[in-house]
Amino acid sequence: MKIAQIGEAVLRHPARTVSEEEFAHAELSVFADALLNTMLEASGIGIAAPQVFDSRSMMYIASRPNARYPKAPLMEPLLLINPSIVSQSVDLVWEWEGCLSVPGLRGKIARPDWVEVDFQNLQGDKIQQRFEGFVARVFLHEFDHLIGLTWLDHVTDSKHIMANEVWLNALEQGLL
Ligand SMILES: [Zn+2]
Repeated sequence: MKIAQIGEAVLRHPARTVSEEEFAHAELSVFADALLNTMLEASGIGIAAPQVFDSRSMMYIASRPNARYPKAPLMEPLLLINPSIVSQSVDLVWEWEGCLSVPGLRGKIARPDWVEVDFQNLQGDKIQQRFEGFVARVFLHEFDHLIGLTWLDHVTDSKHIMANEVWLNALEQGLL
């Protein structure tokens, strides 16, 4: 699927709740598979449905080391439908992140260190889970997409923006 780039209106729209009826239809899992494959093909470590022009409240988080995130921790891809934040840490952590919808750039963003989340799986089961560290960051980044935000909305200082290539070089040299 095509990935929406910054400036597209869909990235500013709050996502809508996936209804109980939708959980009963096979289309939901077909779409979830397509969403995951789009993320994998783009070397993403997370993706939200609005990024593929679909305003349903769905996301994958799938942290793993790859060319775009050499130091990311490895996890199985996790689908979250209708996620909501139950609680999050007061302490914030600064870390660099990028976005498939904001090509070519990285930003240093402060986010909570952990987050407790409610969501539904593909069967509609309600699940509560806690994410920590970088995985919490991936979740919060994707959650932003479900409320019409991107990391650009969190930038507090233009010095906290780098070109992707500059960032990767700095990371390799241990400067970040
Ligand atoms: Zn993103």
